[in-house]
Amino acid sequence: MLLNVVKAKTEQGKDFNFNVNFQLENSLIEDKNYQFLTPVTVNGTMNYLNDELNVNAKVSFKLLVVCDNCGENFEKDIEFDLSEKFIEQYDSHNEEDYLIKQACVEIDKPVIDNLLLNIPTKMLCKDDCKGLCAVCGKNKNFSTCSCDALMDELDNLDNPFSQLKK
Ligand SMILES: [Zn+2]
Ligand SMILES: [Zn+2]
Repeated sequence: MLLNVVKAKTEQGKDFNFNVNFQLENSLIEDKNYQFLTPVTVNGTMNYLNDELNVNAKVSFKLLVVCDNCGENFEKDIEFDLSEKFIEQYDSHNEEDYLIKQACVEIDKPVIDNLLLNIPTKMLCKDDCKGLCAVCGKNKNFSTCSCDALMDELDNLDNPFSQLKK
């Protein structure tokens, strides 16, 4: 996604709003088994001064993710702040610098570079997700099983310590 920065270059030091959408490849997040459900929105300002373009924006999108606790799929809104600078190509630059090319910048580059850092490493479908039963494997959010009660009963029968406790 190319962002035209001509206006910002002609009126240096002034903030210009921009709002763009673009689709990102699921392959970026396939290690986690997640999927993009929406395009990525980047909404913010650009400001050009002294051969540098500063971009401050909010990045937002919706993912289909997998609960780490119970394995169910659920939708998750992700939002993070992006603050990066692009420099002119004629300045000496490193490979990791973002460049201004023919008065355009590739805004998806810094978004992709910051993407994984801003997706939570732990995903829970809800704060109190009950997870799966360790015995029968049922999702305890949707159904109850009698395994806990059964295990307690077995404990009481077989375990000599539980006899002692009494
Ligand atoms: Zn869950
Ligand atoms: Zn169970």
